[in-house]
Amino acid sequence: MYDCAIVGAGFGGLGAALTLAERGVRVVLLEALKYPGGCASTFTRGAWRFESGATLFSGFDDGQLFARWIARHHLPVETRVPDPIVELRTADWCLPISARRDDLLAHLGRFPGAPHDRLRAFFARQSSLADALWSLFDDPALLPPFGARELLTHLARTPRYLPLLPWVGRSLADFVSAHGLDGFVPLRVYLDAVSQITVQASAAQAEAPFALATMDYYFRGTRHVHGGIGMLATAMLDAVRALGGEVRLSESVQSLAPIAGGWRVRTRRGEIEAREVIANVIPSALRGLLGDEARELDGLTRRVEGGWGAVMLYLGLARDAAVRAEAHHLELVDDVDRAFIEGNHVFCSISGADEARGPDGGRTVTASTHVPMAALRALSPAAQGEYIAGVQAAMARTIERRAPEITAATVHRLTASPRTFARFVGRPGGYVGGPPRNRGLDNYQGMFPSPVRPGLWMVGDSVFPGQSTLATALGGAKVATLVGR
Ligand SMILES: Cc1cc2nc3c(=O)[nH]c(=O)nc-3n(C[C@H](O)[C@H](O)[C@H](O)COP(=O)(O)OP(=O)(O)OC[C@H]3O[C@@H](n4cnc5c(N)ncnc54)[C@H](O)[C@@H]3O)c2cc1C
Repeated sequence: MYDCAIVGAGFGGLGAALTLAERGVRVVLLEALKYPGGCASTFTRGAWRFESGATLFSGFDDGQLFARWIARHHLPVETRVPDPIVELRTADWCLPISARRDDLLAHLGRFPGAPHDRLRAFFARQSSLADALWSLFDDPALLPPFGARELLTHLARTPRYLPLLPWVGRSLADFVSAHGLDGFVPLRVYLDAVSQITVQASAAQAEAPFALATMDYYFRGTRHVHGGIGMLATAMLDAVRALGGEVRLSESVQSLAPIAGGWRVRTRRGEIEAREVIANVIPSALRGLLGDEARELDGLTRRVEGGWGAVMLYLGLARDAAVRAEAHHLELVDDVDRAFIEGNHVFCSISGADEARGPDGGRTVTASTHVPMAALRALSPAAQGEYIAGVQAAMARTIERRAPEITAATVHRLTASPRTFARFVGRPGGYVGGPPRNRGLDNYQGMFPSPVRPGLWMVGDSVFPGQSTLATALGGAKVATLVGR
């Protein structure tokens, strides 16, 4: 019997597997696909290599989680700090966002009529609030539940946490208003863009403490992974193996059933038994594996299903494309007055010329946009197809208007929709990115990981801290420490 079986090698499962393997726990990691990483993987189609979803990652500065794993296990992973990290392009202006908050402040200050003092006050306050929370993203031990030492650390930090309290249950837009910055459009556009891709909500909807912390996403060890994020996922998988953990790819789990002292895990190829199971799947998928209604997952399922799907364009560019040679990332907005979804906002990542991601030195682009799943669900299957095609057309239009150099160089094109995510990464319905952090106290539930059933745990972006590659890896590592105990 294994000590622990992990279902899924997304970053939640990888973080858990590596942590357990480091502790000498007898672990088996079961992944349905023939490569790891899930929504943060790199896949091959013909001669092209694309990032499937996630393309820009924090946590690589010294002392941060990915940097620690890379150093400790000598992972062969090269990262680059794009400069700027992201370029935000609208019809009227372009805002380079570098890894330094002060640069962003300086750029915003150059807009005509920019309210300098208020902007400075806004970012000073945001940065101190983000500082208070980001230590949690660097060290799983500081996430709840924590031991006596961590409790003391938190108590010592209480004065830093207290200023967050007035913002609990309020939106990021409320925080902007409190600084008298409502009318300053470039800031509003920047915040809508960054909130949509981090906390999965517009600034008007986002729960302020979460949004204020994740506003630092670009400033906290943010990197492009050379060759694609699959390089890190594969390196973590190899590290699990090197530590004695077992990894089985192309082995999808079909059911989970409790047995005396553990769980029976039935896979496409047979059965195994494990004392504990960590499921790196969304709640509806876990229901499917358990084969019952799993009413204890009702609340979580509703929250995930109130969220988003992704529509994707994967583009192959000619070798002589007139785009910057380095890997770079663009946030493209067609109309700043419409919601940053459905092709009106496109996050576009272009591989570097030195990454060998296309035939004859061709480059690849992963472009994504959010689609509201409740609206999609309400449509008939035929209408859903038309809707997705419409969103893909809107994405192509936004790219053509804001990044014509990409359109001009495109020689190859693939698309994906929520159905693709459902099929390839086993997320029924195609829900991605975790539950939106819309304003409300329910965001603070579920911060203490606990087993769904005795010996059965969940990791991934559906559960706290969720919602990014770093956060899912961190959540996986945290759950692993509880299981390992
Ligand atoms: C379009 C898009 C863009 C994003 N951009 C970014 C970004 O730039 N930066 C960032 O940090 N985050 C980004 N994210 C978010 C981030 O990618 C995800 O939050 C994170 O990767 C999710 O990891 P996970 O462990 O929850 O699950 P997943 O990535 O979904 O992994 C689950 C794994 O489990 C496997 N699996 C499922 N069912 C079974 C089964 N029955 N048996 C065996 N295996 C199974 C799947 O094949 C998959 O490999 C993005 C997400 C999307 C969709």
